[in-house]
Amino acid sequence: MSTKTPQAIRGTQDIFGKDAEAFAFVVETFERVRRLYRFRRVEMPVFEKTEVFARSLGETTDVVSKEMYSFDDRGGESLTLRPEFTAGIARAFLTNGWQQYAPLKVATHGPLFRYERPQKGRYRQFHQIDAEVIGAGEPQADVELLAMADQLLKELGIHDVTLHLNTLGDAESREAWRAALIDYFRAVKDQLSEESQERLEKNPLRILDSKDARDKPFLADAPKIDAFLSEEASAFFAAVTSGLDAAGVKWVRAESLVRGLDYYRHTAFEFIPDEGSASAAALGSQSTVLGGGRYDGLMESLGGAPTPAVGWAAGIERLAMLVGAREEAKADVIIVVEDDRQLSYAIGLIGMVRNSGYTADLAATGSPRKRYDKAVKSGAETILALGCDDKGSLAARIRGSDEWKQRLHKMMDQSGGHS
Ligand code: ATP
Ligand code: MG
Repeated sequence: MSTKTPQAIRGTQDIFGKDAEAFAFVVETFERVRRLYRFRRVEMPVFEKTEVFARSLGETTDVVSKEMYSFDDRGGESLTLRPEFTAGIARAFLTNGWQQYAPLKVATHGPLFRYERPQKGRYRQFHQIDAEVIGAGEPQADVELLAMADQLLKELGIHDVTLHLNTLGDAESREAWRAALIDYFRAVKDQLSEESQERLEKNPLRILDSKDARDKPFLADAPKIDAFLSEEASAFFAAVTSGLDAAGVKWVRAESLVRGLDYYRHTAFEFIPDEGSASAAALGSQSTVLGGGRYDGLMESLGGAPTPAVGWAAGIERLAMLVGAREEAKADVIIVVEDDRQLSYAIGLIGMVRNSGYTADLAATGSPRKRYDKAVKSGAETILALGCDDKGSLAARIRGSDEWKQRLHKMMDQSGGHS
């Protein structure tokens, strides 16, 4: 057997200390905000049958064609570690008969897996918070979902990212736009990047968000969706934007914003750090923090009845980078055991402190003479030192406010100690 310690898998992270605090802060804030908007919590499987993602996302997407962790299980069935939440939630909606709850607002968070080239803000196991409204075709659903995203970012203290908004129209508008894009890009095919040449027939919308320098010169003049929007699709988009204005959510129009996945219709959006902002500096080139849109076509691709839906997801790691490292909270009280004869008493007492809802640590390891100094160094405001007098009975010292002295004396009285 090798004696070498195995290394972590490339693209995974061990998150600890101040970074873990930032991560937890994102999740806690999301949990609080999703309750304000009455989104119901769901817990989803980490893996699904491969076809759940292949059929939902479409074979031509980056995620399905290059990024999925798929494997055959011992029964020979092809399974995939979820690369996103939406497809699994849509599957659950259909297989559990959640239609009865429609319009259903759900939220979740957890790990996702994509085989990508690891770099800053891009991992192979990453985490998202996710919110979906299923069974609501009204633009008001988009507005509410976006207002929640906007409030979440503000409550996280992130004020320098802006909602970039587009519409992909309804199926008919999107199809007409797609055909026009194919015509336009076909004429310059030879000059496009290999990747865009490949996308040309299958997924031409994706060329619009190409970052390749060879494609860029052709992007500005590419046909715009607005020329192809049906009256209905225009009205839908107008209702979304006026709802956002009413909700006080700032947005900018991003005509070439498309989402990578096939199932999107109408609203598509991303929250992106403002140019030159602190958030832009923190995220580098991985600039989208939160993205989503309306996916009215998805349920049908999974064999369900047509069901309108809209949702978003945000990378927890990227949000945590914007939040920045957060201090771990100091203990309300540290109980220092200066004489090990008081250990049992201290264990009883610290239980009382914690049961009363205060955070507490016991300093009872290492040299007894050094424990007090260590407690002082930790920055705790209140320190209770438990030792013995000459006769071997309890001798307690408290460093802290009068309020805390009183509180601790009361607990010591109750626990049969004397002070
Ligand atoms: P990108 O253009 O950055 O690849 P995407 O379009 O693949 O993003 P989505 O599938 O919409 O991203 O996921 C929503 C959010 O999840 C992203 O905005 C980002 O914050 C986060 N995210 C996506 N992929 C990763 C990853 N590999 N590592 C970390 N976070 C990620
Ligand atoms: Mg991606």
